[in-house]
Amino acid sequence: MVETTPDNQQIYKELIYAESIIDKIQELEKKYEKPRFSKMKLAQLVDLLLENHQPLIKDILQTYNISKDEIKTGVICPKDHISTMTYYSGSWHCPSCHFSSKTAHLPAVDDYFLLLGPTITRKQVAEFLHIGSTYIAGNMLRAIGLPFTGEKRGTTYFLPQNYEFIQPDEKDIKLPGAYFPR
Ligand SMILES: [Zn+2]
Repeated sequence: MVETTPDNQQIYKELIYAESIIDKIQELEKKYEKPRFSKMKLAQLVDLLLENHQPLIKDILQTYNISKDEIKTGVICPKDHISTMTYYSGSWHCPSCHFSSKTAHLPAVDDYFLLLGPTITRKQVAEFLHIGSTYIAGNMLRAIGLPFTGEKRGTTYFLPQNYEFIQPDEKDIKLPGAYFPR
């Protein structure tokens, strides 16, 4: 969502709706008939851009001046969005609404990477997900297919470049007040 001042006309020059993109490209093709770059020059530019691409790794906690201790850990129940789930018998269980799931930890793993950084050890994931066993915690990361180095306690898992973060369902997005009822 982009918010702007009420009569900002400039915005329409910089932003368009997704459904208008084909029209926009056609409009630009008409406007710029002559190619600015030769095919070879274009290919060189493409190589240059790709070579210099770096994934954005931002220290989000530093940006917003939030300390690590302020991050709520644990696996949040995907059904009631409030309770912290417990892991036993191969599934996550919600003590409040009794919903159970085998995959409820996936958004929490995403959160870890997005908030705390692109690597995670078995111990860190066990603490973050509230699992007593570092062995089980490590297996969960392995099941996601994350690359890793080291072994046993020293195993560190990495966020691969092509990692696909879970896209939240729009209907599951609630206002902050809904998570923390007063
Ligand atoms: Zn629940």
